[in-house]
Amino acid sequence: MLNRNIHIIKPEAMLNTLQDLNCGKVHVAQLSSDAFTIQHEATTLEGYVRPENFPACCGYHTNIVKSANEFMAKFPQCCPSHQNLLSAPWFKKSNYTDIPDKLLTTLSHTEHHIHHKINEATWYKDITDFFEYAISSFGQLPEGFGAPVGLHLYFYHLDYYIKDRKEIPSNKKKRLLDYLNNYNKREVLDPTDINKLIETYKKWVNTFPFEISYFSHLKPLLEKRIPLLAEKAVENPYIGLFKAKLQTLKGLVSFLVGVTEKILSEINSMILAEKGLLTDPEKIRLEVVNANRRLELKHLNDRPGDERRQYLRILKQWFAGEKRYLKEVTPLLDKLSPAGTAPKKENPVDINDQTGNLFCNAMPLQVAIDHFRVFTEQKSTNGKPFLTKKQLNAFIARAFCGQTTIVKQTFNCSSREKLFIVKRFHQLYSLAAGRYENTTQCTPKYIKLLTDNFTNWNHSAIKHNFGNRVKRNW
Ligand SMILES: [Zn+2]
Ligand SMILES: [Zn+2]
Repeated sequence: MLNRNIHIIKPEAMLNTLQDLNCGKVHVAQLSSDAFTIQHEATTLEGYVRPENFPACCGYHTNIVKSANEFMAKFPQCCPSHQNLLSAPWFKKSNYTDIPDKLLTTLSHTEHHIHHKINEATWYKDITDFFEYAISSFGQLPEGFGAPVGLHLYFYHLDYYIKDRKEIPSNKKKRLLDYLNNYNKREVLDPTDINKLIETYKKWVNTFPFEISYFSHLKPLLEKRIPLLAEKAVENPYIGLFKAKLQTLKGLVSFLVGVTEKILSEINSMILAEKGLLTDPEKIRLEVVNANRRLELKHLNDRPGDERRQYLRILKQWFAGEKRYLKEVTPLLDKLSPAGTAPKKENPVDINDQTGNLFCNAMPLQVAIDHFRVFTEQKSTNGKPFLTKKQLNAFIARAFCGQTTIVKQTFNCSSREKLFIVKRFHQLYSLAAGRYENTTQCTPKYIKLLTDNFTNWNHSAIKHNFGNRVKRNW
């Protein structure tokens, strides 16, 4: 975002900001506006031709020259804020002698642009993008030193011009004038506001019941991404840089309410049961009851502000429904299957790539999937694959994507093939050690990947056989 027209008055402020960013100390780099002034060079628009005798061509343009000269005669004693410039060591009035010329040129370009774009489909974006460029070209003074020099005259004359032009339809006039009137009222976030956004977001992360095992895989994802930008960055071709509006507090809150609703409607016990994944309803019930109680206790000492009440209400309702459902469904599931497992459906388990690889963050999930696919391709002595595709998916989801409510799988293998299975887990260890893992001392983790996720395996028995003990190749 830095451009060559920004003059740094306090270089140390800039260095600190960059340093903070590099150290990962702050979420958003902030450079206080008292640390720089900006002036842009004027641009020449394609197809622009100066009117004949300009600016003595008409009363409107003559008036611009007159008002600009009158203003410059007074500046910087025109208003209390600009008067502060007199005591600033970096201020030179001679840097501003071109203001009347700049004002005139910028207005004339703006008029040309409006005239050529007003009847196009994209008129509003085209014209307001140019307004923004033109406004920013007046530069910026450090905080406390007043508005950009000459900018009030740009607004004043442009307002007059738009109202006066008969070729601009009245609905378009209104929208353009609204844009200009609101420009100065735009919500500008100061650093405390940004901190307020971060704080609001963190509160939500701490409130949402991620401790329930079917939500736990979402936490690492949501914890790191603070949605401070309200929209995708849009390119303004006239400024030539990407800008994005910062989220307002109100916008962030409605975003959080939306996320809460979405997560709760997409992941819950009923959906798990439908997928045949509600394998331990008693455990889930306990988790839900505990999470609900934690939320209640938390709010005994903490009065939520308005911004939190909305999603708290949704959570409360959800907890009530979830508890009721689990209470009703648990005895039914127990009856259906003595082992306490729900009837299995043919739906494959969703592997949510968004979580990344929770087993080993640095390893792309696809590496693990590709590595273990051989279990579905090679056949055991009974002629069937070691795992079905569905079993492989369930294993990946449970071991790598945090979906710990999924049951352990069982290999289709004879006892003589067990070390062949171990070999494949050892191969993943060899692939990862020193590459995706910072250490080579992580064999227990890779043994557990097998013993924690499959039935009939014993960690201490494998410990002494973890390696390449069989000739058969994967
Ligand atoms: Zn004119
Ligand atoms: Zn002034």
